[in-house]
Amino acid sequence: MSYEVRCECGKAHAVGVADAGASLRCPCGRTVDVPPLHLLRASAGEQVVSPVIQIQAMLLNDELPETPDCVNCGCRTDHLMRVSVVCERVTIENQTSGRDALLGCALFGLLGGLVLFKAGVFARPLERGHEISFVLPVRACEACASDRSPAALRRDLCATPVYAALLRRYPNALIARVS
Ligand SMILES: [Zn+2]
Ligand SMILES: [Zn+2]
Repeated sequence: MSYEVRCECGKAHAVGVADAGASLRCPCGRTVDVPPLHLLRASAGEQVVSPVIQIQAMLLNDELPETPDCVNCGCRTDHLMRVSVVCERVTIENQTSGRDALLGCALFGLLGGLVLFKAGVFARPLERGHEISFVLPVRACEACASDRSPAALRRDLCATPVYAALLRRYPNALIARVS
């Protein structure tokens, strides 16, 4: 994929991913700054794949973790930690607000007995949002994995770019060691 950056003189330069963040010299003598990759992509209208979708696909394809080295000490290891990351929780709301009660009464008046039957439906809790959560494999040797604080777990996760992207998207995600 190549992108286009334009010099002040009007000349268009084709640049690649490798040029992102660098600068190039235009034949007119001016220096043209190439924007960082995410800006290049955004300007080209490219869809940036959400880290949620990316991680789901990588987990399905067994591509995680990406490295055979311990994220903490760098030694080669087969040992894994499994870390649960809850990005978004389902919040359950019981429909007992005044407005709903009023609505119930109004409907009761209109429809009489039929509403008695319907009342069962009204009493059901309402789900808002949906849960986004993962159990993510993290490469960590047994020594490093034996005692990880929550802050250390967050650092460990951020060593994997796609996990780091997830935590940037959901900075308040709940992180907990599963195994
Ligand atoms: Zn120029
Ligand atoms: Zn280690």
